Amino acid sequence: MNLRKTAAAAFAVVALTASATACGKSGSPSGSTTPSAAGGSSAAAALPTYAVKTGVKLSGSKTWDRIEKNGKITIGVKADQPNLGFQDPATKKYSGFDIEIAKMVAADLGFGEDKITFKTIQSANRETAIAGGQVDYYVGTYTINPERQKQVSFAGPYFVAGQDLLVKKGSSIKSKDDLKGKKVCSATGSTSIQRIKNGPYGAKPVEYDAYSLCVDNLISGQVDAVTTDDAILKGFAAKYPDQIQVLGKPFSEEPYGVGLLKGDTAFQDAVTAALKSHEDNGDWKKAYDATLGKSGVTAAIPPLDSSS
Ligand code: GLU
Repeated sequence: MNLRKTAAAAFAVVALTASATACGKSGSPSGSTTPSAAGGSSAAAALPTYAVKTGVKLSGSKTWDRIEKNGKITIGVKADQPNLGFQDPATKKYSGFDIEIAKMVAADLGFGEDKITFKTIQSANRETAIAGGQVDYYVGTYTINPERQKQVSFAGPYFVAGQDLLVKKGSSIKSKDDLKGKKVCSATGSTSIQRIKNGPYGAKPVEYDAYSLCVDNLISGQVDAVTTDDAILKGFAAKYPDQIQVLGKPFSEEPYGVGLLKGDTAFQDAVTAALKSHEDNGDWKKAYDATLGKSGVTAAIPPLDSSS
């Protein structure tokens, strides 16, 4: 396994067991000499800018043909996940690590920020949006798994998270083993809600479209815990540090991929190449430090693959 080593115990679980989907023919990104963990509290870290390529052409890609015809790229993202995919309610501007990944890929396809339309798509609607051509690709904490690969293809992983629990400070829930009879909230259509419904935890699942609604319900005492990827939960915990906390005991592995039209291998290869080049040139880490790293998430760059 050639995942880059990280000192972070929280991510050891996911790092040790990169799944079949995450084990790559392309292997680990080369060229970087920093095996150290990204992240920490680099609040002052600046976002990178991405050189927009010119003269890009892809043959044999339905997605590319549509992008070329439209003269712009439409990217599906999340809007309520702090430091990952977040839309400022006042300015309507999107920011976060997933937004940066989306921009890196667009730049390598020849499209700058002014040619990107971000579209908010919730967890439950991702496959339909991709398959129906509402978005050219999707970047939003989207776990690569065989079930989804029946409907969409993925490039990546570009990050590996793990399912965790968010509770009120002082909660009696100390681990996933304390969930019996507890109201546990997650998003419809996510791997997180599936695991809570199908797993041996005995929890009472509560579902909403978006994780922010679960967090509101946690703070107001309507649910006992929120469960999803630690990367998402830590963003919320950083927003309300006096009230809620992440347990920090991940119990799954969630390799994030860029979702795209099933079987569009020419486009998939182009996205994989874009991810790889921005990992190799340091943009990945810079973007990470300026976004997700601020949530207190510590992570390693995962090995890249084209995961059909
Ligand atoms: N990564 C998980 C998933 O793709 C949970 C986060 C999400 O719903 O986006 O289902």
